[in-house]
Amino acid sequence: MTSRNQQLFEAAQRHIPGGVNSPVRAFRSVGGVPCFFKEGKGPHVWDADGKRYTDYVGSWGPLILGHAHPDVVRAVQEAAARGLSFGAPTEAEIEMADLLCELLPNVDMVRLVSSGTEATMSAIRLARGHTGRDVLIKFEGCYHGHSDSLLVKAGSGLLTFGNPSSGGVPADLAQHTLVLDYNDPQQLAEAFAKHPDRIAAVIVEPVVGNMNLIAPKPEFLQAMRELCTQYGAVLIFDEVMTGFRVGPQCAQGYYGITPDLTTLGKVIGGGMPVGAFGGKREIMEKIAPLGPVYQAGTLSGNPVAVAAGLATLKLVQQPGFYEALTQKTLRLTDGLTAAAKKHGVDFVAQSVGGMFGLYFARECPATYAAVLECDKEAFNRFFHAMLEAGHYFAPSAFEAGFVSAAHSDADIDATIAAADAWFARQ
Ligand code: PMP
Repeated sequence: MTSRNQQLFEAAQRHIPGGVNSPVRAFRSVGGVPCFFKEGKGPHVWDADGKRYTDYVGSWGPLILGHAHPDVVRAVQEAAARGLSFGAPTEAEIEMADLLCELLPNVDMVRLVSSGTEATMSAIRLARGHTGRDVLIKFEGCYHGHSDSLLVKAGSGLLTFGNPSSGGVPADLAQHTLVLDYNDPQQLAEAFAKHPDRIAAVIVEPVVGNMNLIAPKPEFLQAMRELCTQYGAVLIFDEVMTGFRVGPQCAQGYYGITPDLTTLGKVIGGGMPVGAFGGKREIMEKIAPLGPVYQAGTLSGNPVAVAAGLATLKLVQQPGFYEALTQKTLRLTDGLTAAAKKHGVDFVAQSVGGMFGLYFARECPATYAAVLECDKEAFNRFFHAMLEAGHYFAPSAFEAGFVSAAHSDADIDATIAAADAWFARQ
């Protein structure tokens, strides 16, 4: 019998490329038919066939309170009833900007946009406009959205400029991006020494969640801060994923490193389309209408989206919120690691705050090259076994996972038990 998911996937492919509006949703990496979801409540989602899953994707990070949290839904309904969009300033945007600047001591001013891609794209333009330089440094395996300057892979040799990693990106543009190895402070120092007055910005995921999860070596972030200061480059922490996910002051608070610009998204929109970039006043004042760097958006600061974000940020500030989230996430990663060990399976897991990584390897990787060495086929089999048992992990071995405040110990223990049963069969 064809499942409803299968029918919908076939129908979707008629008029939507690949049947999806964002590529990883198509299950190309793990194979099989993607789940079409019709409902979510707390830690659970239901697919088109009515099957329930415990969700460890959480819309790729925004749903830190779980699905359809009553306070967030109420805030959205109330805002929607007052008007969906004005294309003019609203009071809620001030509340959001004030709150973000209060929560992040390094952020003096902030501008709201509608996605993480817009946030990073705008922050890079601003950094280039501020410094009058063109070169951008990014790290292999970090994802910062799909703007042209960022869809770039490493060049042929160490410290040579990058090549497009996507069709449609001009090679000339990729020439302005230098792609280096994550967690390699030495290489970063060499890049600055080679191009002392050309580097406008370094953009980094302070904890990487886009090549599975890679934790930063503290000396890597420290060196980055010192080199950017020394050479007059702008340090951009892309906290679209880590922002209010790893702790109350994002990764910058967690690791005690001060970036010049911060990009945000996901959690600050509570599941609605919101992004933001902010930082030092002297840099932020270069944006139009105050300064020469253009940046705009019809739906930027949308009142319904901002209402969802504010309701979410209010709840995550409750005392003990991140301690509890961190404990829940550790319960999952420790439990999975112990179960694998019991059955002699080469598998480990780790977490930072409410995000985690799963690796079919003997130890947690610290580099992109080490991530590529993990057993992807084993992950794919694990993924499908867990899906079958009602536990929804990210459909790719190269994505981080997320736990929400709505996951109970019992939810997590049930997931560990399902994994234990699968590990036992390996
Ligand atoms: N930066 C990071 C670190 C991300 O993880 C993502 C999305 N996963 C983005 C930027 C892009 O955000 P969006 O998909 O909202 O455009």
